[in-house]
Amino acid sequence: MEKMKKEKTKTALLGMTLEELRQVAEQMEMPAFTAKQMARWLYVSRVNDIGAMSNLSQKHRLALQESYEVGGMAPVGNQQSVDGTVKYLFPTESGHCVESVFIPEGERATLCVSTQVGCRMGCRFCMTGRQGFQGNLTAKDILNQIFMLPERERLTNVVFMGQGEPMDNVDAVLKATDILTADYGFAWSPRRITVSSVGVRKGLARFLQESECHLAISLHNPFAEERREIMPAENAFSIDECLALLHTQDWSHQRRLSFEYIVFAGLNDSQRHARELVRELSQLHCRVNLIRFHTIPDTPFRGASEERMIWLRDYLTRHGVTTTIRASRGEDIMAACGLLNTAVANGEYPLQ
Ligand code: SF4
Repeated sequence: MEKMKKEKTKTALLGMTLEELRQVAEQMEMPAFTAKQMARWLYVSRVNDIGAMSNLSQKHRLALQESYEVGGMAPVGNQQSVDGTVKYLFPTESGHCVESVFIPEGERATLCVSTQVGCRMGCRFCMTGRQGFQGNLTAKDILNQIFMLPERERLTNVVFMGQGEPMDNVDAVLKATDILTADYGFAWSPRRITVSSVGVRKGLARFLQESECHLAISLHNPFAEERREIMPAENAFSIDECLALLHTQDWSHQRRLSFEYIVFAGLNDSQRHARELVRELSQLHCRVNLIRFHTIPDTPFRGASEERMIWLRDYLTRHGVTTTIRASRGEDIMAACGLLNTAVANGEYPLQ
């Protein structure tokens, strides 16, 4: 399949902050208040057509349309799991594709968004890591996954846990979360948004300062030398430094800190690991999410048994670390944790 390259003739309004919309208004010689009107059409009414922005004058709409477009790009493929999870394939401005996963769960409906095309962190248990890095998403690309989601009205939560390491693309991630939480934007509470990270230091420090969204750290092993074996990023961004940084923050209020822990048989599920997790985490106001390993081709790793996961959960909880086992969703469509991979760039994705 030919790579999906979007002809770029107009600038997208989607993904612009209020300040950027003000600049557009000024440049187009429109009254300053039209910036707020445009933001409302984009982020509240979510129209994908400048022509539908009916409280802008006809003259202004026509002038805008000459250089700008809203720029929402619909998904180009989807797969539905037996458990109701839906995986969408979204085009990006750079002509690549990324996956997003919609996970309905009773009253709750979560979207897992991607922040990069592929990923350069190279975690050995992850299909995105195998894909390698093909580029950063823009804030518009990130928001587009929400804006053009067919179930967007049902969404209650967004997690930045799809393809890519969010803190490796922190400018775009912060801009997207700003627009998601701003009064002029989607006006979501930051408590509905969780951003994950392996611990990329600079990005994480900025995120902690500039955002109020929840944070999830991909831990997977409490011992640095063992973590390095499955997560090469440990070489550059040590978990010890990451924990030291997290200890400087106040987590006792509404902002939530969690640790993601894929449980591998014989690798990170022993009493020694459990003791170290308690030693490292019991002084932090946090929770641990235990995740089943979803097997990938040609891997030496095996997931721990259900009994072992329950033992680990109970051990940690008994020792003061709140721990849950996360339900797996969408494994049959390769949408579960660690399985996202956009081979579409090579024309291998089954479009529907
Ligand atoms: S687990 Fe996350 S950080 Fe690691 S390779 Fe996969 S997408 Fe990147």
